[in-house]
Amino acid sequence: MKRVGRVQVAVGLDELDDDEVIRARAAKAARVPEADLPELRIVRKSIDARGRHVRFQLLLEPFPEEEEPPLGGPLPREVAGDPVIVVGDGPAGLFCAYALAREGIAVTVIDRGKQVQPRRRDLALLNREGKVDPDSNYCFGEGGAGTYSDGKLYTRADKRGPVRDVMEILALHGAPGQILTDARPHIGSNKLPKVIGAMRDRLIECGVTFRFESRVVGLVRTGGRVTGVRLEGGEELGGSHVVLATGHSARDVLRFLDDAGMRLEPKPFALGVRIEHPQPLINSIQYGRDAGHPRLPAASYRLAHTEDERGVFSFCMCPGGWIVPAATEPGGLVVNGMSLSKRGSPYANSGFVVSVDPADWEGAGFTGPLGGLAFQDAIERAAFTAGGGALRAPATRVTDFMARRASTTVPEGSYRPGFLAGDVAEVLDVTGVPLAEPMRRALRVFGKRMRGYVTADAVLVGVESRTSCPVRIPRDDESLESPDLPGLYPTGEGAGYAGGIVSAALDGMRVADAIVSVRR
Ligand SMILES: Cc1cc2nc3c(=O)[nH]c(=O)nc-3n(C[C@H](O)[C@H](O)[C@H](O)COP(=O)(O)OP(=O)(O)OC[C@H]3O[C@@H](n4cnc5c(N)ncnc54)[C@H](O)[C@@H]3O)c2cc1C
Repeated sequence: MKRVGRVQVAVGLDELDDDEVIRARAAKAARVPEADLPELRIVRKSIDARGRHVRFQLLLEPFPEEEEPPLGGPLPREVAGDPVIVVGDGPAGLFCAYALAREGIAVTVIDRGKQVQPRRRDLALLNREGKVDPDSNYCFGEGGAGTYSDGKLYTRADKRGPVRDVMEILALHGAPGQILTDARPHIGSNKLPKVIGAMRDRLIECGVTFRFESRVVGLVRTGGRVTGVRLEGGEELGGSHVVLATGHSARDVLRFLDDAGMRLEPKPFALGVRIEHPQPLINSIQYGRDAGHPRLPAASYRLAHTEDERGVFSFCMCPGGWIVPAATEPGGLVVNGMSLSKRGSPYANSGFVVSVDPADWEGAGFTGPLGGLAFQDAIERAAFTAGGGALRAPATRVTDFMARRASTTVPEGSYRPGFLAGDVAEVLDVTGVPLAEPMRRALRVFGKRMRGYVTADAVLVGVESRTSCPVRIPRDDESLESPDLPGLYPTGEGAGYAGGIVSAALDGMRVADAIVSVRR
């Protein structure tokens, strides 16, 4: 009998639950009689909207004959020894701690923010009253920047084993099982905090220590090595190795490293706005006549264009989501996006950003290794002022932006602190680096690719400025340690080695492997 491997089949929207149809197509694809087809399971499910009708593409494989290893294994075990200090409980820090605990290595995780539950209350206050707590906000607190997000779990990382490991760990701690099969998995802000809390509880059971509401303000050095960290208030915590995973918004950390004479390298990042459309419009552009079918999720898109060697692209799209205030300092305005697992809001928002590099901000007078931070900050402060305070966001209809004029009215949107109609281009160009023009040209191209995308019903909301960190903290390619300070491991997005939840988690686990190899 012919052995059946993986097979790909396409099914219509109403055929997804029809086992007979799926098996008949799988048998045809595998070129075997249906009677010879083993039991199959879905490995990957994706939406195919290229034809006249939207279909699902299913990658199927026979159930394995041998027993599979348990999901998310090996589990963390009881830890012992000199603790590794992990600064930052975002995906990089948390997965680093998890991987170290799998090896029985003691860890102390320190975060300036609060646990997921009290953090949620601070976010409610932030949305209601527009007051930014510099230690508890959309970027800082347990789980890091992605905890209250769309929880998209896509990554460009191509190593399937480690990516699968991250997904299985998330599923083991309560993430929906479909993240293991969806081609574009996401968790949502209602579920991800519970997953993070469950991971923390498991680690605590193994003896890992967590210190919340503890801001690290400096590193302790002994004999040319890092031997611990100093907390605000003066307390010092010692550890054999220090993992610095403080994310793209920990400007104070970058400043204390700079003050201590550590090498920091400016690096390109991207900056722009959130663009928000009515979700039904995006559904009809992407799904055509099938828009509104109950089997179809809120539609997403991905757009990119290069204009005069400058990349302009959509970023971190949140179908059925909300725009949220993601500033970490009072007096600045930053927007980002989130959604719940059902992606049920009537709005589709996405970052719409343009790449900038050190030559841009240096040309505008923002010099030195932290010039990118000052450039970012200048635009965020201009956005705050243009919004009139209380985190109201300056907003411009897309058609007004194209016509180079301010909006006098804007449609209602998902952003709870509210919009103020105006000219977001003025904010973008405030430093003298022309950002609005390449974005206009890209919009012209995007409007041709997605008919209806450029519309008066869509608004540009300022500013999306924290797409990644404008600074890299150098580390050795092999040992992953700082060449300036042995024992220090710059990790994750804030150090310039990751972008997104999964890639930060992968970097954290990679750093854990490096530490395990020297602890053996
Ligand atoms: C609103 C929002 C939505 C997002 N949506 C998505 C998405 O859907 N999918 C996706 O892949 N990515 C998303 N991202 C990006 C993603 O969250 C980040 O890429 C990822 O979290 C980076 O992980 P990290 O661990 O490197 O850093 P972070 O997640 O930023 O974690 C850093 C941690 O360090 C702590 N910290 C900072 N300074 C100190 C200090 N001095 N002392 C102690 N602790 C400190 C912070 O409190 C924080 O918990 C989103 C980001 C935001 C803000």
